[in-house]
Amino acid sequence: MIQINNLGKVYSTGRSSTRALGGVNLNIPKGSVYGIIGLSGAGKSTLVRCLNLLEKPTEGQILVNGQDLTSLSGTDLRIARRKIGMIFQHFNLLASRTVAENIAFPLEIDGMKRAAIKERVSELLPLVGLTEKADSYPSELSGGQKQRVGIARALALKPDVLLCDEATSALDPQTTLSILSLLKDINRELGLTIVIITHEMKVIKEICTHVAVLHDSRCVEDASVEEVFTAP
Ligand code: ADP
Ligand code: ADP
Repeated sequence: MIQINNLGKVYSTGRSSTRALGGVNLNIPKGSVYGIIGLSGAGKSTLVRCLNLLEKPTEGQILVNGQDLTSLSGTDLRIARRKIGMIFQHFNLLASRTVAENIAFPLEIDGMKRAAIKERVSELLPLVGLTEKADSYPSELSGGQKQRVGIARALALKPDVLLCDEATSALDPQTTLSILSLLKDINRELGLTIVIITHEMKVIKEICTHVAVLHDSRCVEDASVEEVFTAP
């Protein structure tokens, strides 16, 4: 469903340039939980920003259901972005808005009517186990609960892909497991493709069906989790 062909990114600042990605090829099957692991500086954030269409790659293609995202602009780009939900390490919630209002935010931006927003939010709250917290503010929530709000907000526009950028890196081990288990449920129940960027092997082992290893701007491994972890 997502096919990344020969993706490359060079950052140019003044006279110097840094290659952050080069010749990256990935095939992310529909319905998979696809992990991308690598050390700091490997190019993970750059790959996320390319996938999320915040950054234009200098080479290559990102095909989602056959459509090349790197060639889009204007309205087409905005429509394509809605198909990718995203969650973050530090949750990125709006402090002045309640849980329900945070989840409603992308729907408001999208121009959805008030009644429809209310209905969609009331479907999302139980999905992430936060019905009782609808009127709480982010400062009143635990880290795990904040990430649950992030997940509900990311799912609001019914994306094709959920992109998780170090989404459990700020959480303790037990909360990490509960968030991973929620992501697993969402993958299974909604059939949603999930892409997980992480520096933690335990995250990959816990839920991923596929894994790619980024090292020094290159993808050095791309396989099912059994293939990578089963010693010959
Ligand atoms: P990771 O997320 O795996 O730590 P990054 O994608 O952040 O890796 O970085 C990959 C390489 O690109 C690093 O050498 C980094 O210094 C460089 N880099 C990242 N962002 C920029 C930028 N905006 N300008 C210049 N160089 C950058
Ligand atoms: P935290 O992540 O903050 O530690 P918990 O994992 O304990 O929070 O879950 C917070 C609340 O969400 C609990 O009441 C729990 O029963 C509920 N919950 C956990 N997972 C789900 C789920 N998949 N669906 C619905 N509710 C859930």
